[in-house]
Amino acid sequence: MRLILLGPPGAGKGTQAQRLVEKYGIPQLSTGDMLRAAVAAKTPVGLKAKAVMDAGELVSDAIVNAIVAERIDQPDCAKGFILDGYPRTLAQADAVQAMLAERGLTLDAVIELVVDDKALVGRIVKRAEDARAAGQPVRKDDNPEIFEERLREYYKKTAPLIGYYHAKAMLKGVDGMANIDAVSGQIDALLGKGH
Ligand code: AMP
Repeated sequence: MRLILLGPPGAGKGTQAQRLVEKYGIPQLSTGDMLRAAVAAKTPVGLKAKAVMDAGELVSDAIVNAIVAERIDQPDCAKGFILDGYPRTLAQADAVQAMLAERGLTLDAVIELVVDDKALVGRIVKRAEDARAAGQPVRKDDNPEIFEERLREYYKKTAPLIGYYHAKAMLKGVDGMANIDAVSGQIDALLGKGH
């Protein structure tokens, strides 16, 4: 099973990806997590990406495409994977298609979490509060000002992917404003894993 989760920041992609990991036993490939790990480890990629991420802008296609191409060749991806936060530009969408084609693989579905923008800032603020309460580090880009920039980047560069995948008849939308269990239920139903 190879899936893409699409939606603006704060839509719940990470939460749903974790649930899919448990159900399908395939890894969540979050380019955001991979980039944050690179920043923490101060790798050359991390050093390049840090300022861009802190500003809420997108890291270059070349960097993220290379990270993903390397990651999908790891043995734990043999049965499939969930792409969370990638692709985020049309160039990345073309790149993932080429990567899969080179390996004789296809995508099973692109799931869009459809959400109301106005609710998203509140979710991000809550995510930061929850992390703080749990004694976990708070993401630098989880604050209202940077969030606005992340949302602008989404509409400018990522939202066109909705049309791209719709035209390929691969797009499936779920109501991302429903509660977490209900969203999972909708995704299960789409993937033919309903109870
Ligand atoms: P996320 O955890 O998915 O919200 O990503 C956090 C940040 O990492 C984003 O705001 C971008 O700066 C960067 N990032 C993550 N995934 C990508 C991607 N596919 N393309 C470009 N930048 C990305």
